[in-house]
Amino acid sequence: MRNLFLQGLLQSALTEPGPAADPLATAELADLAAKLDRAAKRRLGRSLSIREIDAGSCNGCELEINALGNAFYDLERFGLRFVASPRHADVLLVTGPVTKNMREALERTWRATPDPKWVVAAGDCACTGGLFAGSYACVGAVEGVIPVDLHIRGCPPSPSQLLAGLVSLLESSSVKP
Ligand code: SF4
Repeated sequence: MRNLFLQGLLQSALTEPGPAADPLATAELADLAAKLDRAAKRRLGRSLSIREIDAGSCNGCELEINALGNAFYDLERFGLRFVASPRHADVLLVTGPVTKNMREALERTWRATPDPKWVVAAGDCACTGGLFAGSYACVGAVEGVIPVDLHIRGCPPSPSQLLAGLVSLLESSSVKP
């Protein structure tokens, strides 16, 4: 037991080392996040709150969305907040083709989100049904179920594409609130 304990102390971690950070990409993301922070303060007077909804995704889009908040990107420092309830959200960020099983949950979540609200379809599947279009298990694109204010294409969209989309949503004068 003592040997195992000492081994654990002396051995390095079993996980692979992370990729080296690309300083240009990191600077571009930080710049976009700062823009988003300024735009949210201008439009809402506070940080932007996002409720993520997986309406049937393969989870590839979620990996990129989760990356926004991980230790590498750490975008919460710019005020980007993911909230646990639609009642606290400004934006519903929806991924995946809407499956028949998730249709009602999506509609209920949309109704539970207070106005004014924005809906963003993130990823090709949310925008058009993507790979799963025509499947017997899917209703299809998000806009076939609830009104959509912004489409962010990509399979999956990268963190910088997601941020650029959110900035354009807040800076656009043609959308609510
Ligand atoms: S857009 Fe691509 S990554 Fe996103 S849910 Fe569809 S297949 Fe998966």
